[in-house]
Amino acid sequence: MGANAKRVFVASKLPKHTGVSAWVAMLPPRSEKPRLEGSVTADVVVIGAGFAGLSAARRISEIDPSIRVALLEAGVVGEGAAGRNSGFIIDLPHEVSSDDYGGDSMSNSKEAIFIGRRAIGLASAIAAEQGWSHDIFDPCGRYSVAITDEGDQHLVTYAAQLAKLGEKHRLLDAREISEVTGAHSYTSALFTPGTVIVQPAAYIRGVADSLRHPIAVYERTPAIAFESMRQGWLVKTPQGSIRCDKIILANNGHAESFGFFKGRLLHIFTYASMTQEFDPSRLPGDRKWAATPALPMGTSVRRIPGQGGDRILIRSRYTYHAGQVVGEGSLKRAGALHDRKFGTRFPNLGDIRMEYRWAGAMAVTWNAVPAFGEIERGVFAACGCNGVGASKATASGIAAAELVLGDSSELTEIYRRFDAPKALPPQPFTAIGAKANLAFREWMAGAE
Ligand SMILES: Cc1cc2nc3c(=O)[nH]c(=O)nc-3n(C[C@H](O)[C@H](O)[C@H](O)COP(=O)(O)OP(=O)(O)OC[C@H]3O[C@@H](n4cnc5c(N)ncnc54)[C@H](O)[C@@H]3O)c2cc1C
Repeated sequence: MGANAKRVFVASKLPKHTGVSAWVAMLPPRSEKPRLEGSVTADVVVIGAGFAGLSAARRISEIDPSIRVALLEAGVVGEGAAGRNSGFIIDLPHEVSSDDYGGDSMSNSKEAIFIGRRAIGLASAIAAEQGWSHDIFDPCGRYSVAITDEGDQHLVTYAAQLAKLGEKHRLLDAREISEVTGAHSYTSALFTPGTVIVQPAAYIRGVADSLRHPIAVYERTPAIAFESMRQGWLVKTPQGSIRCDKIILANNGHAESFGFFKGRLLHIFTYASMTQEFDPSRLPGDRKWAATPALPMGTSVRRIPGQGGDRILIRSRYTYHAGQVVGEGSLKRAGALHDRKFGTRFPNLGDIRMEYRWAGAMAVTWNAVPAFGEIERGVFAACGCNGVGASKATASGIAAAELVLGDSSELTEIYRRFDAPKALPPQPFTAIGAKANLAFREWMAGAE
């Protein structure tokens, strides 16, 4: 094919969300941004208004506020995975384990910390500028909580590794963590101060609404195709089109729906449930805290204070769906698991029911690297969140913006050094392997 041959990429599918996210349901109504109608021009089109796409648009405007960005969101801002997660913007890697914990392991961890902190830096600048309260954006840190001997041991090892890295942390025994959570099931915990806790839908909406001319955000406007022109690209939407020089693909697993990273993205979904409001006096401890599990496949829990009462969030279970859609049955099974996890942690709240349940998508690569970089001339990917997209996708959005504008930084250097995502085994082995692996790791995480 000649260098000037037309290149056409058509979306084979668009995102579909399962369940109702409490974070969206709890927010007041908001005026949506318009759909795109007719033909317009932009310098850069960003596809996807999650952490990656919004951060890319924000970073472009920081580097050069005259650049015209059109940001396309297939659905409603805040209703995708970025607005339906557990709200931990984490600065530290989940696991820093290696046997000797020297050399590469140490420098990989330092890079992961740099990435997390760069993301938090951008998010904090927006929060300060917008004057958000701690209900939306709270730099309060997080607890890693254990419920088994294995979890306890893991936290002790993790604490030793953080000490070597010079990272602040504090180990808590069972009594100390129960004073925070009011739950007696936790056997130990590790507090790290650098994580920011957000109301994810409020954060995502807030970032979208903070973007100013010449950035235009279009909601309910999926990119359904894009094709090369003599110069630049033409992006098509159901009722319009945009001529542009460059494209940033920030639609995570749906990069594959345009034919990119085929067989390199594992479409993993995770689930959350949130209780109805309860009288805060029924649960001792702090009214606000956020805990991730000591073992990676375990359960995240948050207590969220509110004027009408407090709520508990339970996030647990991972499933693999090659077609990127979760059925109601999977949501129901995850919900039953959440009820059990809630019951064992908060036996005093046995009469409190879950009011909301939902699922959300993640895209994981075999070698845990982002699906990042220039994938066609003038088309850049900031995808493959690897599960902790609040920080990683934010950072890849920043790095993609810098790459597009030729602005090199320590972050772009780190992203330049990442390997490409490795090919997954062919189907049906990927499906069988992923399902077996998730089931095994969930079993290993046990009560956590
Ligand atoms: C229940 C749950 C809890 C989680 N908890 C955490 C957590 O606490 N911390 C954390 O770091 N991560 C967490 N995650 C993972 C995190 O949500 C993701 O890693 C993150 O959302 C990825 O960000 P992203 O911008 O890459 O992709 P997304 O958030 O998926 O954003 C991509 C956007 O692209 C849009 N899109 C797709 N195709 C098109 C198209 N053709 N045209 C236009 N738009 C399109 C989608 O609608 C979507 O809004 C959780 C996930 C879930 C589901």
